[in-house]
Formats: sequence, structure tokens, C-alpha cells
Amino acid sequence: MGKWLKELQEWIPENQVLTTLADRHSYSFDASFGEHLPDAVVQAKEKHEVLEVLKLANRYKVPVHPRGSGTCLSGGPLPVHGGIVLDMSQFPAVIDLHPRDLTVNVTPSVLTGNINKAAEKHGLMYAPDPSSAHVATIGGNLAENSGGPRGLKYGVTKDHVIGLEVVTPEGELIRTGGQTIKNVTGIDLTKLIVGSEGTLGVIVGATLKLMPKPPAVQTIMVAFDEVRKAGEAISQTLTSGILPSKMEFMDHACIVAVEKFQPVGLPVSAAAVIILELDGHPETLRIERGLIEKIMVGMGAKEIIIPKSDDEAGKLWHARKQVSPAIAKIKPTKVSEDATVPRSKIPDFMDRLESIKEKYNVEVVAFGHAGDGNLHPNILCDKRDVEEMKRVEKAVEEMFQAALDLGGTLSGEHGIGTMKAPFMELELGEIGLDMMKRIKDSWDPNGILNPGKVFPERSEVGASSGVVC
Ligand SMILES: Cc1cc2nc3c(=O)[nH]c(=O)nc-3n(C[C@H](O)[C@H](O)[C@H](O)COP(=O)(O)OP(=O)(O)OC[C@H]3O[C@@H](n4cnc5c(N)ncnc54)[C@H](O)[C@@H]3O)c2cc1C
Repeated sequence: MGKWLKELQEWIPENQVLTTLADRHSYSFDASFGEHLPDAVVQAKEKHEVLEVLKLANRYKVPVHPRGSGTCLSGGPLPVHGGIVLDMSQFPAVIDLHPRDLTVNVTPSVLTGNINKAAEKHGLMYAPDPSSAHVATIGGNLAENSGGPRGLKYGVTKDHVIGLEVVTPEGELIRTGGQTIKNVTGIDLTKLIVGSEGTLGVIVGATLKLMPKPPAVQTIMVAFDEVRKAGEAISQTLTSGILPSKMEFMDHACIVAVEKFQPVGLPVSAAAVIILELDGHPETLRIERGLIEKIMVGMGAKEIIIPKSDDEAGKLWHARKQVSPAIAKIKPTKVSEDATVPRSKIPDFMDRLESIKEKYNVEVVAFGHAGDGNLHPNILCDKRDVEEMKRVEKAVEEMFQAALDLGGTLSGEHGIGTMKAPFMELELGEIGLDMMKRIKDSWDPNGILNPGKVFPERSEVGASSGVVC
């Protein structure tokens, strides 16, 4: 290590290379629950520093793990093979709006929520709205192809990116896409990089699409006394000709947890609630609201709550955002999954979750972007309890299998990282996975960029999930 570290310190300003144990510990975890110590941390503040780090890493075959805010739920930024954590959150945060083009140029360290705030000043919006938008970086969102409640109507991060500036694993700066909405010049490298979880390049800039902000929104909360009824109401709404901008689900345990954490008056006796938002012209919203109420009554809703003001509506959406921190209070360890199924299969997936919960005697709570089939079953447990964690591991495997059996996928938005890598072949098949690996190998011949992510390591193929670490 001595030689490469010494050389690194020659290229990068001293105060941006962190090597004390305390500093390295601060970069050893993310919001999942693995822990791996890097040998050094580089806080990059300029593009040329990213280039130098990658060139040096190739010379010495040292792993480099890009990192934004570290809110990843699948172990993406963890230095599983030691080496360097490349912290991109200290890059100067620049939001350069072009309202007449409906685009914005950003640097990777910008917090996603701030892009939308800046756009709103011009009557525009940046549509992707992950619940972590106030803390996560756009660099992390691009690498994970993050989604949020508005994904139901407006799509996820990849649908809003038209160009990227990327440092390749070998330390060259490239520009993909451009500033235009239409662009079919060659193979779409932008889409290839988005969602590649920091394995194909380090994002140092992006051009994003903006959209006109809808003139009005209407929030509706609907409580059900049976989870399955809520699932069926979601399918029924989505086939009714109305496309809500958001359609979120919370089960009983989540409702109770949020009410204990930050009470807002959610119906604690309900088995589940759906919180949905309609957006568009006020007159259209009036008609659609009536239709939604009719559908929900027809599906046996226990209660329909219409907020009386923007403030009240804001509180409901805040409550939805508090689910993750609120359920984290229930038990010391939270295993968050985000298997996604075709929307028509949501009720079946909910049934499968219920039987997995009983079979393995584990505490499962569920919430998420149910409108696009993306549920977040969370297993609440204690990682110090070895016997319980064995059951958790089996339950997680069965959840993945259930999602795949129903025509779904391992991850809707949280990424594969380290946690789901062993299951990739299950979904993609041997050849499909090999084709992906060949792309990785041609971009990164020395395998230095974020190794141990997305692709199962040899020892992991066919092994258990590795969720217990
Ligand atoms: C409470 C909570 C709520 C969440 N809600 C949502 C949600 O609604 N929707 C959702 O999709 N996710 C959600 N997440 C997950 C997480 O916030 C997202 O995955 C987010 O995109 C991670 O951004 P980050 O800046 O924290 O990146 P990190 O966690 O630091 O890194 C994530 C991945 O991106 C890579 N990376 C980071 N920066 C770069 C870069 N500049 N270039 C290349 N690769 C890079 C890393 O190597 C890693 O693989 C939530 C997480 C928490 C804790």
C-alpha cells in the first residue's frame, strides 16, 4: 500500500486524502448493514483528481469505490476489497438551469431535492423524487437509477437524463448524450452508465430533463381493513383510465410505527392505507377525485380521507417519508428489500409475503411505491441473533423467488450492490449474466472500479444471500 498511497498524496491535496482509522471507519458503511474498511479515502473536488485516482488505481491495481452520501440500501459504495473510497459528495455543488431548454446541468454532489427546488422557481420540476432526495446525491441517484413516488407517472432517473460526463475506469473523461432531448447518435452510453452502480465509470456531471410543474395536485388517503383489498384497489385504479402521479402503500405495522415516531393522525386501526396523488388541471382533478372515491368505495374502503389544505396533504406525504426511520426504531437491524412485480400481481405478492412471514417466523413490514409494483418488504431483526438471522436469510431468498415466480425482478430501485449479487443468475440466466459481465470487463479491464458489486463473486454463485454480515 505504501507506494500507491505516497503517489496518491503527491497528486491530491493532502487534506483530501484521509487515512486515519477514525476517518476510514466513517466510510466503512452505508444504509445497508455491511461494514468494510477502506485503506484510504479521497474526497475529490475536481475532475482532474478523479482522473488521477483512476489512472493510479490502474497502475497499481487498487480497487476504487465511488461514493455519494452513503444512503445506499444494497451495499453499493462499500469498499468490500479495501482500496480507495472516492467520495464525490465534496465536489462543488453546481445547478446550472436552462429553463428555455427545459434542462439543467448538475455536478454529482448536488442533493437531488435541491434540483427540484431550483426548478420550481421557474415553474418547472425535476420529476424523480426518491424519499432520500434531501440527503442523497444526484451522482448516487444516477448510479442507482433511483425512483420515487412520482415514478408511477413520470418514470425513474434514467428517463430524465440526456447526457453525462463520465471518467472511465481507465481514467479518461468522456461525454455521453448531449443537451438535446432527441439524440440517436450511436449506442446509448448514457443509459448504459445510469444504473451501473459505479461499476462502469465515475459520473462527474449530468444534463437532466425538466418538465412543466403541474398546475394543481390532489392528495387522497384510503384506509382498508384487509391488505389484499388495498392491493386490488391499486390494480383497479390503474386500469380505470386514471394515472395518479403517486400511489403509495403502507401496512398496519408501518402506520403504527409512524404514529409512534411522529404522529400525524394516520388511521392506526387500518390493515393498510394507500396514499395517492393526482396532478393536472384543477377541473380534471375534481372529476378524477370523484372517480377514485367511487372505485375505492366499490373495493370496500374503510375510510377515505381528503386533506383540507396543502399543509394537511404535506403532513401525509411527510408521514410516508418517515416510514423508513420509524420502522428502524422497532428492532436493531432492518433488512430492506425492494423486489418488484407486475402491477396485477401485487395482491398475490402480498399473499406470498404473508406466508413467508409465518413460515420463517420473522417480522415483515411492507410499504412502498405500490402503484408501480415496487413494494419494500422490510424484515426487522437483530443481527446479533445468529439463529434469527438464519431464518431472515431464508425468508429473503424466498421473497426474491416469489417476486421472480410472479414475473418480477430482484430490485426496482435500490440496486444489486453486494446484497443481491448472488441472486443475479436466478433472474438473468447464465448467458444473460455473462453478457453483462463482458460489458463490465471491456470497460474496466483491470477490474478496479467498484469490484464486488452487481456481479456475484466466484464463491457466491449459488450461495446464500450474504445478507448476514
Ligand atoms: C431513508 C431512505 C430512503 C430511501 N428512499 C429511496 C427511494 O425512495 N428510492 C430510491 O431509489 N432509493 C431510495 N433510497 C436509497 C438511496 O438513497 C439511493 O440509492 C440513492 O441514490 C443513493 O445516493 P447516495 O448519494 O447516497 O449514493 P451512495 O449510497 O453513496 O452510492 C450509491 C451507489 O452509487 C455509486 N456512486 C455514487 N456516486 C457516484 C458517482 N458520482 N459516479 C459513479 N457512481 C457513483 C456508488 O458506488 C454506489 O454504488 C433510500 C435510502 C434511505 C436510507
